[in-house]
Amino acid sequence: MSNIRLVKARQVFDSRGNPTLEVSIELSSGAVGNAIVPSGASRGEREALELRDQDGPFGKRGVLKAVEKVNNEISKVLYGVRADLFEVDKLLIELDGTENKSRLGANSILGVSIALARALAKEAGLALYKYLGGELSCVMPVPLMNFINGGVHADSGLDIQEFMIVPAGAESFSESLRFGALCFYELREILKSKGLSIALGDEGGFAPRLKNTKEALEILMMAIEKSGFEAGRDIYIALDCAASELYENGKYKIEGKELSKEELIGFYKELIEEFPIVSLEDPMAEDDKEGWKLITKELGSIQLVGDDLFVTNSGILKEGIEEGIANAVLIKPNQIGTLSETFETIRLASRYGYKSIVSHRSGESEDSFIAHLAVACNCGQIKTGSIARSERTAKYNELLRIEEELSSKAQFLGVGVFSWRR
Ligand code: PGA
Ligand code: ZN
Repeated sequence: MSNIRLVKARQVFDSRGNPTLEVSIELSSGAVGNAIVPSGASRGEREALELRDQDGPFGKRGVLKAVEKVNNEISKVLYGVRADLFEVDKLLIELDGTENKSRLGANSILGVSIALARALAKEAGLALYKYLGGELSCVMPVPLMNFINGGVHADSGLDIQEFMIVPAGAESFSESLRFGALCFYELREILKSKGLSIALGDEGGFAPRLKNTKEALEILMMAIEKSGFEAGRDIYIALDCAASELYENGKYKIEGKELSKEELIGFYKELIEEFPIVSLEDPMAEDDKEGWKLITKELGSIQLVGDDLFVTNSGILKEGIEEGIANAVLIKPNQIGTLSETFETIRLASRYGYKSIVSHRSGESEDSFIAHLAVACNCGQIKTGSIARSERTAKYNELLRIEEELSSKAQFLGVGVFSWRR
């Protein structure tokens, strides 16, 4: 294994036009790795801190301070250090010295972690997913495709943040993308025919002004059927409720009403009875543990995903497992800040029978790292937007290349990924 010869960061742009960090690492062998860090809009309170400027040429949006941290402090410490991913992650966590990576910034640290993984994979002559996961990494993920954007990702007026279709009835990853794409074309035609906007939200889904959750779900059902598929057999539905955004003074503000936790769960129950929903993400607010306990008891037969709830943090996930809340965890590397910790969370989840879903952020780039991560950890699910906007399709296209490379070794779990052994 060689040493680190160069660590360099620069400011580039993300899919929302905001500055973000790119890190390049060069090893003594000459192998180079790059990484562009993503950025979220509906963040969990306990996420690791993303370092942003206080002022400067881009005001509060800039990441020049983070660039400076990488180019000075981090690059000096890492110069000549053995390029061992686990050891380097540990060194950076110690160098930062805070609970939430607020001194150096989770963006600076994650940029280094991913760039190093890429350089090491190159040095080893392996595809990134194989370098990270080994020879047995071969599970292609079921895509959770965000077709209607609401919440803080769009101005559609919809309270629920993400309406996703899940083409889990397909036989392979590429076939599931085909199901999704055909459904997307139909959805566009349906919206046009109703005189609704076909402009895209942050994650590449449509952001039409619809009345409420039910109308959005009905339109998705129409798109599924018009594209020739059967809802509940070929294509299912998943929601990201991002309920922390709806929570105020112990109540949930949704569709002009103020609901108690019990009423909100009742609302979800009705939706699940009427529509083929297989997964609910953040159905309750991150600080409403009681609500989480209740929903896990009542609706634990479908996938209940903690995103803001667990923030990819193994310590927080451990608490949740002990409390018996949720049954799946969303995996966003920039919520925690290193790849070692990301993998620790995935391993913890699988040890306790929780599913993991690898996820993008609403602010993304051409970096397709999460495609490799999803296959490396064999978790079977990925959330990376709709089939439009190139920062989203960058991940799907990379997965198509991986599937081609895996060839007959590729596995696709399909609907099976949503079943639990009890
Ligand atoms: P974010 O949202 O990337 O804007 O935080 C994505 C999500 O809530 O899953
Ligand atoms: Zn979420």
